Amino acid sequence: MNISSIPSSTSLPNVDVWQGIDWCPSDRQQVQLQALYTEVITANQQLNLTRITAPEEFWEKHLWDSVRGVGELISDSRALQVIDIGTGAGFPGLPLAIARADWQLTLVDSTNKKIGFIESIAPELDLPNIHPLVSRIEELGQQRQHRHQYDLALVRAVASANVCAEYALPLVKVGGTAILYRGNWTEEEASSLELAVAKLGGEIVKTDLFHTPLTNSIRHCIWLHKTTDTHPYYPRAIGIPTQKPL
Ligand code: SAM
Repeated sequence: MNISSIPSSTSLPNVDVWQGIDWCPSDRQQVQLQALYTEVITANQQLNLTRITAPEEFWEKHLWDSVRGVGELISDSRALQVIDIGTGAGFPGLPLAIARADWQLTLVDSTNKKIGFIESIAPELDLPNIHPLVSRIEELGQQRQHRHQYDLALVRAVASANVCAEYALPLVKVGGTAILYRGNWTEEEASSLELAVAKLGGEIVKTDLFHTPLTNSIRHCIWLHKTTDTHPYYPRAIGIPTQKPL
């Protein structure tokens, strides 16, 4: 293990920094968030899960960002069925599973080692509400047990917005929501996404612009509403969405 790349302080910032969010961790949730951080930076030595390892940066870019992205849904009274597409080391899915023990979260990634990591830490974090799954999302979107099954689909840092929409919308129930976590966001991207989303049975209903609390970095979360069933043609076969984006 390369000890020098473990941060000297491994304590997350205190709970009072959860500003701008209608949620604050309980003592138990704070312990779970701390355990998540410790597990990620320890496993990072072998698995190269993330380049974000300093406690404050990890808290802001992985924990706060994951929770803030779902906006007011974090305090919604409903227990949602959620899918996190291209979850990597578990973001945004794991912080949300800690914040909402009543939500069921399917965490999908095509990489074995990342899903293996999530499986290995689930008992330690006491998270029976997560369901890690190795799969290409193009395959999952055509499977009956996943297609049109979710209230909420989340996609952070996976591909261009149009590709993320083709991954996400087939999995969402009519009346449900997909949220695309983006950094910068342009008019051109918005126009292009509008056309793509219409083909997938959805519409853009909100562009949530906000800044992160420590480094003032810009974020846009694009909210898509599922209006009608997605045509069976979508998602297209593995690799096609990225090769020929809608
Ligand atoms: N969402 C995480 C985050 O924000 O930290 C991870 C982002 S990482 C840059 C992108 C992840 O998406 C990778 O782990 C990759 O394996 C996964 N991915 C990309 N395309 C995918 C696909 N078609 N199906 C499943 N996973 C995919």
